[in-house]
Amino acid sequence: MGQREIWVFAEFSEHEVAPVSFEMLSEARKLAKELKGKTCVCLIGKKDGEIPRSLQKYGAEKIYRIESKNSNEPSIDVYASILQNLIQKFSPFIILFGATPSGSELAPRIAARLKLPCITEVKRIGGERDNLVIGKSCYNEKVYQNYNFHPEKTVVLTVLPGDMNSEEADGPRELEVVNEDIYIERGMTRTKTIKFIKGDPKKIRLEEANLVIAGGKGIGKDMAIIEDLADLLGASIGGSRPLVDDGMIPFERQIGITGKSVTPKLLMACGISGAREFVAGMDKAMLTIAINRDAKAPIFKFANLGIVGDLHEIIPFLIDRIKVLKQKCNREEGNNSPL
Ligand code: FAD
Repeated sequence: MGQREIWVFAEFSEHEVAPVSFEMLSEARKLAKELKGKTCVCLIGKKDGEIPRSLQKYGAEKIYRIESKNSNEPSIDVYASILQNLIQKFSPFIILFGATPSGSELAPRIAARLKLPCITEVKRIGGERDNLVIGKSCYNEKVYQNYNFHPEKTVVLTVLPGDMNSEEADGPRELEVVNEDIYIERGMTRTKTIKFIKGDPKKIRLEEANLVIAGGKGIGKDMAIIEDLADLLGASIGGSRPLVDDGMIPFERQIGITGKSVTPKLLMACGISGAREFVAGMDKAMLTIAINRDAKAPIFKFANLGIVGDLHEIIPFLIDRIKVLKQKCNREEGNNSPL
């Protein structure tokens, strides 16, 4: 076993570092502290490409920047081979992947090839002396398992997006950059990415959504009101428990302590009081807007922007304004509207 390096495989979403990478980095930083190790990031891309500053902000101390000399194809086969080479060469203590579509394909594939231990969809990673303590739930969240073991080989883990906190590091750290060129054999790529098709926000996992419109008991039976707003913004729909109890949204769309933890860039809470069981699942949203007719509703304590009033008047008004803005943006910038 080499040095105690905790590696994070950096994932990107629409050219930006995906939030799950920051969650993993924050966790890796804590673990590195416990184990007196180092927080490292694997970045696959061009050698002369810029390193996102955000990685350093979240505690990266060392970046392995890997370029494949003979393949620019961003395929799982190529990534798996690159990472396989890198792990063999540097023997990290742990490598973390997001339990995202690509992370969930990469992690077990690499572990199988190198005969490494692999635990998927973990919720907790801790270190006790030389031991690792990995927690995950199973049987549809009914049982919580703790794995306590002394790793003798690199441990491959996937981490569920939205389950761990992302916190910036205390101060700037010195950054070491290791550039690696990796040669990929011809014929290695068995799969080819033809094009990316953006997921239907109504169907993607709530934990992966960038925009969430959340409805609460205050919407009454009027699902259409939040659906119209969500369609216009390309947002996903979630909600509080009463909506699930009333059969208006499926349980997978419930936000909260017994539902999903979400980490969108924007969450709009419509007609939700802000009970702590709900807030526990949304307090990591980057920006929260709350609409509630009760000015004293607790949700306003957690919102960055609060609108006091009847949502049946406010949402149609917002929809009209957004439509006007969209048309204006489309006229000014062709189809490059930010909305
Ligand atoms: P309410 O608390 O009834 O709030 C409705 C809000 O809508 C009010 O603030 C009201 O002012 C506003 N409103 C009404 N009409 C309008 C209007 N026309 N315009 C604007 N505003 C309006 N809840 C969850 O959400 N997720 C969980 O995971 C969860 N887990 C739980 C686990 C346990 C063990 C327990 C005991 C409870 C759990 N709950 C959970 C339930 C939680 O305690 C709350 O009851 C629930 O979150 C309340 O949902 P709400 O805010 O939609 O409804």
